[in-house]
Amino acid sequence: MKLAGLDKWFGKNHVVRDLHLDIKPGTMTTFLGPSGCGKTTTLRMIAGFQEPDHGRISIGDRDITDVPAYRRNTAMVFQEYALFPHMTVAENVGYGLLVRGIRADERKRRVRAALELVELDGMGDRFPGQLSGGQQQRVALARALIVEPDALLLDEPLSNLDAKLRESVRMELHRIQRRTGITAIYVTHDQEEAFALSDEVVVMSEGRIQQAGPPDEVYYHPANRFVAEFVGTINLAPALVTEVSGSVAAMQCASAEVVATGLTRPIRAGQTVVIGVRPESVQLCSVGEPLPTEDANVLPGRIAGAAFLGHKLRYTVEVPFGSTPWVVDQFDPGSSVGLSGEVSLVVPRLRTHVMSEE
Ligand code: ATP
Repeated sequence: MKLAGLDKWFGKNHVVRDLHLDIKPGTMTTFLGPSGCGKTTTLRMIAGFQEPDHGRISIGDRDITDVPAYRRNTAMVFQEYALFPHMTVAENVGYGLLVRGIRADERKRRVRAALELVELDGMGDRFPGQLSGGQQQRVALARALIVEPDALLLDEPLSNLDAKLRESVRMELHRIQRRTGITAIYVTHDQEEAFALSDEVVVMSEGRIQQAGPPDEVYYHPANRFVAEFVGTINLAPALVTEVSGSVAAMQCASAEVVATGLTRPIRAGQTVVIGVRPESVQLCSVGEPLPTEDANVLPGRIAGAAFLGHKLRYTVEVPFGSTPWVVDQFDPGSSVGLSGEVSLVVPRLRTHVMSEE
């Protein structure tokens, strides 16, 4: 699928701005971003429920920009399941085939296969009101899949489910997408959901794509400060680049010299940048403790607090750079009592990320 230069205005509100994206067939792509960033509007333009003001949309060789929604061969699953309450599960799932004039015996066979796929075999005679929220959403998914759409469009489909159910339906959805090889686009503001499901994550803000890439690339090589802060937790500090050699940069960060390796974007000496370090990338050492300094940066700090969260101790550490304390996670702490006082923060050079300032 190709989105080429999509723009959408609602009155004076420019909600999607010159959006370009290539989506590989058979993959799961997530639009991730804060409320109001234009994710749903983009999805609705693909479905044909909204018309772009500029730009083209194509699936394979077929330009669908001017094709009405019902002829696009896309299927959408919504947050509210939108099942017909007076129809049985089987009738709901088979509805798309009925309106396409598919014969009763074939309909029956395909409904059974679709219900098996979402693990609801034997539930065909029930009514939606007799199912749990998770089961209803699986019915909605079966109803979308049964018409074998070119693209499955999912608009926050799990947000009405409680946390535990969300995770199990999410795993189910992942399995089904892999098994069917369907091209799927998923809208969410939940980073964990996006990462768990997607081949490609598209981070959006104010109608623009900030970064598109596989989850690990987005996490470890955020394109800018917005992406770094929106995706997980990150500690930031301003720094001045002193020397660059290939994918290695030396920087001055307050009084500390810092080296970053594995750079994925060009920077130059003299440039002011932002260093980003994830809480789990830092090792804390007490003063006097031998430091594992190989290929690592060592920064000074002082423990300001620690919260015991079971699987980890989350420290707040005052640092002499940046205006906010850093957050450091120590996993499997074994005790709720942690370090205190002056510490060294040891950060692998490869986990010292460099971003442009904007
Ligand atoms: P959310 O996660 O809250 O659904 P979103 O990223 O999906 O957010 P959109 O629903 O695409 O955002 O909305 C983008 C902007 O466009 C918002 O400011 C919203 O208020 C506005 N908007 C969306 N639909 C319409 C409409 N039909 N008429 C006018 N404004 C709209």
